[in-house]
Amino acid sequence: MGDKPCHIIPIPKRMSLESTDRPWPKRVDVSCDVACAEPLVGRYKSDLAGRGDELLKVSLIETNSRSGGYELSFDKGVLIVSASDTPGFRHALQTVSQISSEGRIPVGTVADWPELSIRGFHLNFEAYRRLDLKRALHLIRTAEHFKLNTILVEYGPRFPFKSHPSIGEADALTPEEIQQLNAEADALGIRIIPLQQSLAHLEYALKHEHLSHLRERREKRNLMCPRDPQSLELFKSLAGEVIERHPKAEWFHLGGDEARKIGHCARCKEDAKQEGLGAVYGRYIGDAARWLLDQGRRPIVWDDTLCSLPDAFEHLPKETLMTYWDYIAVADPTPVLIPRMAHADGGPRVAHDWAWSLGRKRGRISDVQIQVMRNYSKPVRLRASLGKKYLGEFEAYLGNGFPRWVRALPYLEYYQDRGHEVITSPTGMGNGDTQDGVPNFERFEHNIRTHAERCKSNGKALGMITTAWYNMPPELLYQPLIRTAQCAW
Ligand SMILES: [Zn+2]
Repeated sequence: MGDKPCHIIPIPKRMSLESTDRPWPKRVDVSCDVACAEPLVGRYKSDLAGRGDELLKVSLIETNSRSGGYELSFDKGVLIVSASDTPGFRHALQTVSQISSEGRIPVGTVADWPELSIRGFHLNFEAYRRLDLKRALHLIRTAEHFKLNTILVEYGPRFPFKSHPSIGEADALTPEEIQQLNAEADALGIRIIPLQQSLAHLEYALKHEHLSHLRERREKRNLMCPRDPQSLELFKSLAGEVIERHPKAEWFHLGGDEARKIGHCARCKEDAKQEGLGAVYGRYIGDAARWLLDQGRRPIVWDDTLCSLPDAFEHLPKETLMTYWDYIAVADPTPVLIPRMAHADGGPRVAHDWAWSLGRKRGRISDVQIQVMRNYSKPVRLRASLGKKYLGEFEAYLGNGFPRWVRALPYLEYYQDRGHEVITSPTGMGNGDTQDGVPNFERFEHNIRTHAERCKSNGKALGMITTAWYNMPPELLYQPLIRTAQCAW
């Protein structure tokens, strides 16, 4: 099997395999009397065939291992695969397929299980050279091969909207293509979470004259007015169509990010004066979330605007899942803080304590961390610049080393304490960060790893979904996808 046997990704937690010189055979006999594994046998059998002449007998048996976990035991010409549920058998067979592709039958055992229940990646039809269905399906298959189980699907203007045909662009997917996407994900045990923006990032709709009256500011095409009743109606009709095309999707992402610039039109301004911007935002997002619950879908929202305007939480149903994005954290603890609420009140956007500029103890932080501080973060007298209001709300979550050190993803426990379940979102490609023309993967990999470690140490986070935003060749998606699999498992 060569000098380094079994490059299995994600690396199994327990693996004791020894190489042999017996070629992996052409003939693989699978015996299965476990109902939950039966549908998988046909699908994976052809993946398991090699070139040798012997026969490999594979037995699938049921044990009471944890959900998604499995064990493999190779002994001479026999492989015993044990798991307790369909995901467990699926993961086991993916591991066997990675071993078989090395060409030799090993002896020994593998035992493995996932640490995070949601392990996801972002499939963004608006970016990646507007990738087509064929490439999207390949991405989903690769996700499954590396034991991810969730895909966040964002269509933007590439959805075939019937109610607003002008919004869907010429290269929108067809209903049949969306059906194929669903069928493939279903067969592979991948959860699809569709995303339809509800307030901001709606340039593709608000650029059209007949919808331009919904803009919060006449000259800005990206943001709707949360106080215009027709805004929610537009969201409902767009989201309603997406739901209809994803009948099995239990969760639905309503976006809601980067909507802080509400409060400009006369109505919003007046309401904000009376009750604060948080109430204006919260009421709108809360209504959208309740509508999704009425449709039988669990709502999901990006966290950033809520974090800027925490009064909004009071208006949000507790079932709403938070997706907490932070593309800056590359270690835990970190010197760098994103003080969203303080920034909304005129404070810094991304900051680290001024003491770091003195250059002392530089050796304790990595080059990637220094790069992030230099490119994205401002040295400030951190405690003073955040203000009492911010510290009153969040200081308990910033960690013991504050202000010099900040706990990475400090709002994770804050959202949980407010009664919401959380999925975190690192980025595989974000902030426009490239080096020599290609994505700065080194930084993104630290970001992905930091999220995974924080989710695991927190213990209650549901998991993570890595985002990817660049309009670059879709082949670049595979690196962060595989890194996500390695870290999240
Ligand atoms: Zn308004």
